[in-house]
Amino acid sequence: MSKRAKVLIVDDDPINRLVLEKTLKVEHDVFLVESGEKALTFVKTAQVDLIILDVIMPGIDGYEVLVQLKENPITQSIPVIFISANRSHDDEAKGLELGAMDYITKPFSPSIVRVRVRNQLLIKQKNDLLEMLASIDGLTEIPNRRYLDENLAREWRRSKRSGTPLSVLLMDIDHFKRYNDCYGHRAGDECLKDVAQALAAQCERGSDFIARYGGEEFAAVLPGIDKHEALEFANKLRNAVNALNIEHKASLNADHITISIGIATTQSGKVYAEQALLEEADLGLYAAKDAGRDRIVAR
Ligand code: GH3
Ligand code: MG
Ligand code: MG
Repeated sequence: MSKRAKVLIVDDDPINRLVLEKTLKVEHDVFLVESGEKALTFVKTAQVDLIILDVIMPGIDGYEVLVQLKENPITQSIPVIFISANRSHDDEAKGLELGAMDYITKPFSPSIVRVRVRNQLLIKQKNDLLEMLASIDGLTEIPNRRYLDENLAREWRRSKRSGTPLSVLLMDIDHFKRYNDCYGHRAGDECLKDVAQALAAQCERGSDFIARYGGEEFAAVLPGIDKHEALEFANKLRNAVNALNIEHKASLNADHITISIGIATTQSGKVYAEQALLEEADLGLYAAKDAGRDRIVAR
């Protein structure tokens, strides 16, 4: 592993905690808590890569801690290894069925614990990488449609709950079919990459993102941004693409690559349902195309 992992040890027995700490602290950053309650509090504020969880503890036992970890989207993918004096197969099966990645019985061998922890951390690392790759568009290397759908849904719910605005932009490259016809599909791919990167580079706030919506269309999701601010941002995006100055002799509206943008914002008079937000942005985009391209229409 490139960087040290954060391992949380949850055990009511101080001797066990010490032995586990000694076993793991050479390779990892180890944190110790003595109860299920403290474990659940700890993971709320600190980022943890793996949890070693005792099963039998006073108060909330290990099973219940695992159930609660799995219920919370923030903690549900932290791998948990149960460690228990209970050697019954039924208990082991119960732990694994609840979603534990591994089950170690006490008394344990430190070298085996070390290897099992290492294995689970490697699996987690690979899963995270797969998850990340599944959300990235292969050509442009910006978030893909899957990422957009998941995160727009989340931001939409958040906006509805908190009453803060949410703006969505749909962008489409102007006369891109003519670009492919004129310069070839490969040059078209290069152009898509450059446009995507230029758009993504304009996202300064961590909460904003731009995804490839499909083909030569992109979408921006801007939480907390009202209609006026969305217009400003759209102008930045349009200018950034113009500034690339990618020659487009076959375009009917300019001598270089341009984009048209449609904007929809929740709370701009109407309350948009999640899908309606994209549809409204699409209507704006359509109107921008109709009005001559290389322009922005906010709905
Ligand atoms: P408009 O200004 O109305 O948007 O015209 P347009 O030509 O851009 O729109 P149209 O929808 O007719 O054509 C989109 C083109 O985008 C057609 C398609 O071949 C091209 N395209 C979509 N995805 C890719 C891609 O991944 N690579 C390349 N090179 N071209 C793509
Ligand atoms: Mg299109
Ligand atoms: Mg187009």
